[in-house]
Formats: sequence, C-alpha cells, structure tokens
Amino acid sequence: MKNKKIDWDNLGFNAHETKSMYRANYTPENKWQIEGLVPYGNISLSPASTVLNYGQGIFEGTKAYQTSKERVVCFRLKDNAKRFRASSERMCIAPLPEGLFEKAVQEVVKDNLEFLPKKDQGSLYVRPIAYGEGPMLGVKASDYFTFLIYVTPVGSYFNSGLKRLNTIITDKYHRVATKSVGSAKAVGNYAGTLLPYKEITDQGYDEIIFLNSSNENIIDEARSANIFVLKDNVLKTPPLHGSILPGITRDSVIKVAKNIFNLKVYEDDVTVEELMAGDEVFFTGTAAVIAPAGSINYKNKITEFDIDFNDSMTKLIREKIIDIQHENIEDPFGWVIPLS
Ligand code: PMP
Repeated sequence: MKNKKIDWDNLGFNAHETKSMYRANYTPENKWQIEGLVPYGNISLSPASTVLNYGQGIFEGTKAYQTSKERVVCFRLKDNAKRFRASSERMCIAPLPEGLFEKAVQEVVKDNLEFLPKKDQGSLYVRPIAYGEGPMLGVKASDYFTFLIYVTPVGSYFNSGLKRLNTIITDKYHRVATKSVGSAKAVGNYAGTLLPYKEITDQGYDEIIFLNSSNENIIDEARSANIFVLKDNVLKTPPLHGSILPGITRDSVIKVAKNIFNLKVYEDDVTVEELMAGDEVFFTGTAAVIAPAGSINYKNKITEFDIDFNDSMTKLIREKIIDIQHENIEDPFGWVIPLS
C-alpha cells in the first residue's frame, strides 16, 4: 500500500499516513494491556480527557535507518525509553512495563518497512506518545492512559535543509519556567513555542533561542533542539539543570567530540555573550541531527558565523554521527540497534 502521494526525493518533516500503529491501553484494574499493531487511523477521545483539557500528554522522537550493511537499525532506543519513563513520571502517566517501549518501536517499524526511505532519501521517524484519557473535570491526573506509536518517512527537519540557520534570541518569551516541566517531553512545552515561532518566522528567521527564565544572561535551548557553541576548539553546551530537554543527540555530540575529536567539552552555563562570540554555533536534535547557525540576533546586535561549513567542526561531528547511524563506519559506542 505504498502511498502514491509521497514524494520520496523531497521528503520534508511531515506526517504521512502509513500502514499501522502500535497501541496499548492502561486501566487501574488491568494495568497496561497490549493491543499491538492496529491500522493507522484516527483515534477517539472523551471530550473530558485530561490530555485535551489539561495537557497530560508526553511524546518521544527517534528514527530507524536503512544502513550500508543492508539492514535497518534504530539509534539509542534505550535512551528514548528512559526519557519516556522520566517524562511519564513527571506528568503522572503510568510508566510502561520494562522493555515494552523498545519492543513496540521495533514491531511498528518492521510492519511499516515499505515506508522506510532509501538511505540517501531520509529515514523513518518514530513518534511514541502517551496521554491521559480521563474523563476528569477537576485538574487531576487521569487513571486511564493510551500509549501509541506511529511512524512517518522524513527527510531533513529544517525545510532549509542544511542551510545555515538565521536565528534570534528572544527576550520576549521563555520556553519553560526553571522549576516546571522543561526536562520532560510534555506536550504543553511545545504549545507555548507556537506563537514565538510564528512571530520570528514572519520576520524571516529560521529558529528561536530561549533564555533561562531565572537568569536571562544564560541560554537554555531552541524549540526542539539543544544548542552548542565552539570557541577555540572548546565545546560548550548548557547543563541539564531542569529547564532543557536532555537531548540524545546532545549526549551523542558530547561523546563524539570528546572521544573521537579529542575536544574539551563543558556542560556549563552558556552566556549570551559567549554564544555571540563563538567560532561556531549549532543545534542538535533527532530530526536534523546537527544544524549550523548562520547568524544570531540579540536585541538587534547581530553575529554572523562566516566559517565555511565545509571547513567546520560542526560538519565533522555531524558527519561522524550520521556515519555511525548509517553504519558507514563501525559504531564504537554500541548505539546502533539492528531490528531483531
Ligand atoms: N530539546 C527539545 C525541547 C526537544 O523537543 C528535542 C527533540 N527531542 C531536543 C531538545 C533534542 O533531543 P533529541 O536529540 O533527543 O532529539
């Protein structure tokens, strides 16, 4: 049932209808009950469900790749499972039984292999979600939950491809409050970025950078990507202090930079000045892997990063991670998991 409407050579970051999705349901009496693979399609929901009314929902994002070894692999799936568990705890969603997340991702990927792009076209994006079904009128955690995984073929996330991103640091909005749910992949964290993103794209920018809400001298991250600055071959990224998401690409960059490129890497507060004075600045996330910044605007002071991408450390780190993901080189970290 290959979807005829998919333009395989120009895959963006869009939700295409695929063959199947995976479903499990939680009730207080029966705990998690596995429904397994079901046809891809709409779901029904109580109008009083806690996800619709109070944002009791979480998600994950990972990818399956066709590799040089003519097989399909997932990347650091255990880390996504761990983060999903941490997000569910923070959002009062019943945690999944151990191992179910990884098993379910593999099952749904296997069942949708016809939607996996060829190696040079992109990858299969995997989106696990969990949410409170309610119904619940008071602001309280639901006792009923759904776990769903759907997949979709994707190319590159930023529609500019590898164009260097023109970015702006906002002093108008925060992404999250420091003691709120910024380290969880909670749905509400993204809702709050929709208007800031609309405003900056209307002004011609590609990405927005948020400051820490307790200390506006330091930066947190973008809407759905962590941020790094390289200066004199020292790499720095904000620490996991609670208001940024612990990105799996972030962690991969830290390990590749330290162990393969012998860079000094610091997880420490990054000031606006440090960011603006960097030799290279880049964003990290599953969708784009690494996207370089071309410019940063802060209160109308603009830094342009002139370095040719082909000569940059950003490119070296990016390609090393992509080579590991596609098994073009040996994976020294044990990150690549073939479909079993
Ligand atoms: N920050 C936020 C807020 C995100 O949503 C994401 C995407 N998951 C990231 C950072 C990057 O995380 P990862 O590298 O695990 O995709």
